[in-house]
Amino acid sequence: MNTIDFEKINQEFETQSAEEIVRWAVKNFPTDMAMATSFGAESAVLLHLVTQIIPNIPVLFTNTGFHFKETLEHRDKLVARLKLNLRELKPEISNEEFLAKNGKLYERDPDSCCAVNKIAPFEKALKDYKAWITGIRRNQADTRQQRQFVEPDRGTLVKFSPLLNWTSKMFWDYAKKHDLPYHPLWEKGYLSIGCSPESCTRPVQLGEDPRAGRWAGKNKIECGIHMDTSKQP
Ligand code: SF4
Repeated sequence: MNTIDFEKINQEFETQSAEEIVRWAVKNFPTDMAMATSFGAESAVLLHLVTQIIPNIPVLFTNTGFHFKETLEHRDKLVARLKLNLRELKPEISNEEFLAKNGKLYERDPDSCCAVNKIAPFEKALKDYKAWITGIRRNQADTRQQRQFVEPDRGTLVKFSPLLNWTSKMFWDYAKKHDLPYHPLWEKGYLSIGCSPESCTRPVQLGEDPRAGRWAGKNKIECGIHMDTSKQP
């Protein structure tokens, strides 16, 4: 891992633009850097912003087999529009096999379902890189309030979150300025979009956090990909 004074650089990033953070990232990690996307409600902005600076960056997308058909259509639209270097990741076993073996595991035990269908393929792919870029924002959920623009991650990686301080208004201003397509489910109240089972993603009510519709009632806010691993040895 490059030597980075995380505290110092995060202080500097607080007053820098997302584009400046991405430029710093690619200067320090000219190779072996990827970005991750879910092709969810707000994904178009980060995909556009990063690929304007690093056009060929590998774009990791975990296709769990449980996505909304609208998400896959949104993926196809963005891949064509932005000429994305898409690296689609899949679970070890097919969706049919998983359902035959486990039934609706996502209702009974979403952590185990995410572990097999989301986290395992993603963790395996991350081993090919030294750094990655994500679109998480502090105002999406309490679990994201303490995150930093650049963090040590999973022991060997560096994780960049250039949109961390963005408000919803900044997001929509950027999307409008660049005429970016939005996820078709967004206007139906899905502010954070994951897998299609109702127990995993539901529309958000007025006044709720954007991620309140994810695994509602299951005491689960994150799939595990964005857990804070910076304190791990
Ligand atoms: S979000 Fe739901 S369906 Fe998707 S992997 Fe997690 S528990 Fe399974």
